[in-house]
Amino acid sequence: MKNLGIYVQVPFCQTKCTYCNFHTGVVAKERFAPYVEAVCREIRGHRELLRAVGVEWGTGPAASLGTSEWPQPDQGNRVASGEREESEYLVDTVYFGGGTPSLLEPRQLQENLAAIRETFRTEFREVTLEADPETVGAEKAAAWVSAGISRVSFGVQSFSDKELAAAGRMHRRNDVYRAVPILRSAGIENISFDLIAGLPHQTKESWKQSLAELIRLAPEHVSVYLLEVDEGSRLGTELLQGGRRYSAGAVPSEDEMAEFYEMAQEALGETGYRHYEISNWAKPGFESKHNLKYWRRQPYLGFGAGAHSFSGRQRWANAHDAAEYVSAIERGSVPVEQLETVTAEMALEEELFLGLRQLDGIDMGRIEQEYGVTLGERFAPLAEAGLVEQHGSVVRLAEEKLSVSNEVFVELMR
Ligand code: SF4
Repeated sequence: MKNLGIYVQVPFCQTKCTYCNFHTGVVAKERFAPYVEAVCREIRGHRELLRAVGVEWGTGPAASLGTSEWPQPDQGNRVASGEREESEYLVDTVYFGGGTPSLLEPRQLQENLAAIRETFRTEFREVTLEADPETVGAEKAAAWVSAGISRVSFGVQSFSDKELAAAGRMHRRNDVYRAVPILRSAGIENISFDLIAGLPHQTKESWKQSLAELIRLAPEHVSVYLLEVDEGSRLGTELLQGGRRYSAGAVPSEDEMAEFYEMAQEALGETGYRHYEISNWAKPGFESKHNLKYWRRQPYLGFGAGAHSFSGRQRWANAHDAAEYVSAIERGSVPVEQLETVTAEMALEEELFLGLRQLDGIDMGRIEQEYGVTLGERFAPLAEAGLVEQHGSVVRLAEEKLSVSNEVFVELMR
């Protein structure tokens, strides 16, 4: 049986951060209920909805197990009456991402989880909720735990109020200190913090301070992202046009960002975090089980506006616009926008790109056997330039080159 990850996209936020290049909107709370209902309908009807748009999903042999062999409802697993779910998949990870999924009522998250449990065989090992620190309260946290949420991923971004304010974030440093003990008391034993290197007004000192405060609060998992400069965000557009709005003039240089990344590498490494993916560190055993599926090319289904899916053979995504998504689902169809069949050549490129992002590296022996290719020549110039290192049949990014990984990827894909 294959493990399957489920991603639920919640595209709503309280405000728009200046650096944000996601498709999210600030909407009235009244819009949440129809959206949650549409996601439930998409989950329950996914096989027929996907088949109607040409996705090959669940089209293999139907469940071979007799109904008496399905797990019982009191284990949290069951098959909706009249449905025969893909017998080859077991949903073991769920990820509510956004947007700000913690804005939803806990009851609404519970409704989505109930739809998943009714539709798929499930044995949850990790159910993540992305949350903004200021949205956390004791009652809410307790309700999350009883709904089955086991991991909370916080968009902390920085511990400097000046940086948070300039970036348009709603929370402040104190909100993080208030939220973490609430989650711990509620029973959340797996917390992740995101930090962004490159926010306006960030300095070497303030970054050092953010890293120190993060380490003091001891989350089990840490993601460090570099500020993305593109036309998808207001700050990115301003920077590209050479303007000064949104504190664009106070954004650190690329060299400074690379230095901040290396400082994080050092500080987190010294305090027991294992660097396992370019942007991710974890205490032993707390690597993100759901995100590992993306990097290892394992199947996942995404539900909601803009959610992406991968079956192993095909990739597809839903339309980004939440209103368009809800009305399509209400009309009985799913608005799939980008459906592509992954060719062997594409799959190989993905293996190399995603494999190098992981610090365990790429097992060339496995890839050569699976794809019938020889990789030695492809990696030789990178090894000569000191960008990758080889140990037996494993090739990985050289540790001191992680901060310039994009250059390595460009070289590799030439
Ligand atoms: S909270 Fe996250 S998704 Fe929402 S606007 Fe800010 S960066 Fe974007």
